[in-house]
Amino acid sequence: MEQKNLCDVEGCGNPAARSFSQEEVAKLASKLGLPLQSSGKRVHLCEKHYKQVKKELKKQKKIEKLRHGLPF
Ligand SMILES: [Zn+2]
Repeated sequence: MEQKNLCDVEGCGNPAARSFSQEEVAKLASKLGLPLQSSGKRVHLCEKHYKQVKKELKKQKKIEKLRHGLPF
């Protein structure tokens, strides 16, 4: 059976393109000002919101890498 998931950003309602763990996305979403209505373990995002989150995720990974690269 096919289960249709919708984007978990409040007021969006587009079909979900990706899903993330709640842990992974909650922080990013609040940083981006995206209210999530999901309280489950998985957060579903439509293409548009996924792109926003992905961008932010990349930024954070870059920062993390830089941190780890510092010689102290
Ligand atoms: Zn959305």
